[in-house]
Amino acid sequence: MDQTLPELEETITACRRCPRLVLWREQVAREKRRAYRDQEYWGKPVPGFGDPLARLLIVGLAPGAHGSNRTGRMFTGDASGDFLYPALYRAGFASQPQASHRADSLTLHDCFISAVGRCAPPNNKPTRDEIANCLPYLKQEMNLLSNLQGIVTLGSVAFNETLTLLGVKSTSYTFGHGLFYEPGSGLPWLLASYHPSRQNTQTGRLTTDMFDSIWKTVQEKLQ
Ligand code: SF4
Repeated sequence: MDQTLPELEETITACRRCPRLVLWREQVAREKRRAYRDQEYWGKPVPGFGDPLARLLIVGLAPGAHGSNRTGRMFTGDASGDFLYPALYRAGFASQPQASHRADSLTLHDCFISAVGRCAPPNNKPTRDEIANCLPYLKQEMNLLSNLQGIVTLGSVAFNETLTLLGVKSTSYTFGHGLFYEPGSGLPWLLASYHPSRQNTQTGRLTTDMFDSIWKTVQEKLQ
């Protein structure tokens, strides 16, 4: 029988399927970054976060070592989240622009955030096997989001892995910021975005206007 979202959250949080990632996430949590040495790191897989009635799913890559791996919530406590949540707030999907820790009162409306990998990987690079191990969790979340209409993928890995998960094989689906696809056959639509990583936002590859245009498109496409 399918799990409920809270049950799935418990399963994900207890997962130890990828030995390399278990070692890494726990080592980072023990050693900590100097700025956070007084904090207790989460150090476990990070489950999806948001509105169970969401029409929109956002898919990222994997937790940051000192972001989600520290706070235990998607995109919380790092530079990517500092760019993502203000944009979601401006678009009406988040109750506040700040996301600093799990008890900061942030809620999402009509939006659920997840990722292709749930454990912080060394150098932000999960292996193909590690992603394959983890993708079933994202699939389960998709199945449990009964109102799901569309998916925004952040970065090319999230885009390609989401296509795999949906069983879409066409080579005409290429990654590019703002590219929109409708696979049909009852599948959710897809909108590709550059990832809001510091590397992209500080170099100007992804600007605030470019990111806001993603959420404007989402608002237009949601029915
Ligand atoms: S990456 Fe996913 S499958 Fe691997 S240990 Fe973490 S939660 Fe489990």
